[in-house]
Amino acid sequence: MSIKQNLDYIKSTLPEHVTLVAVSKTKPVSDLMEAYNAGQRIFGENKIQEMAEKHDSMPKDIEWHMIGHVQSNKVKYMASFVSLIHGVDNFKLLQEINKQAKKHDRIIKCLLQIKIASEDSKFGMTGFEASEIIKSKAFSELKNIQVVGVMGMATFTDDENQIKKEFSLLKTTFDGLKSIETCIFKPETISMGMSGDYALAIDCGSTMIRVGSTIFGERNYL
Ligand SMILES: *Cc1c(COP(=O)(O)O)cnc(C)c1O
Repeated sequence: MSIKQNLDYIKSTLPEHVTLVAVSKTKPVSDLMEAYNAGQRIFGENKIQEMAEKHDSMPKDIEWHMIGHVQSNKVKYMASFVSLIHGVDNFKLLQEINKQAKKHDRIIKCLLQIKIASEDSKFGMTGFEASEIIKSKAFSELKNIQVVGVMGMATFTDDENQIKKEFSLLKTTFDGLKSIETCIFKPETISMGMSGDYALAIDCGSTMIRVGSTIFGERNYL
């Protein structure tokens, strides 16, 4: 199956309210261009440097999503072009994104990463921590960011029941936060679901899925 065929198939199964992020990390620009020529405009990368290089060499109507863990000192390398940062897991990082966005006279959209997995290796905050941030005065002063929802990663397991529980927790967390809408918090997006579990994620309320290997094939890590 070609990249175009994979994309067409996935898109044919998606409800209209679900956005597909094509996760292109480690893949060459030629693969991304194949997806681009098949109509895909949203790409997700997990390394800022790699995303910036691909951004430089590809058409400018692409929306670039940062889906990996972000280090504060690297925000500046993507602030001029990134569309959505999925994995924001602390307030300091929001402040840094705000500062860098301001330099470019932009508003950068972010998602708060909520820890839903039982594994220690996964980043994220609790729903309570997220609500404390959103309600704080310091947050209300960050005029160059907009938090548009939440993101989560389920435990790496074959146990579908556990994954379902974790996705449902993210949906419940999102619904709880929704009631505290502010100028800077505009909850509309729940980013959950990857190649192995996106159908389940959609059943549990996902509005944005991040799919890599099902589109581009397995990744070879060196
Ligand atoms: C790599 C990655 C994905 C995509 O994973 P696949 O299993 O290849 O679909 C999704 N989300 C995040 C945060 C990732 O790092």
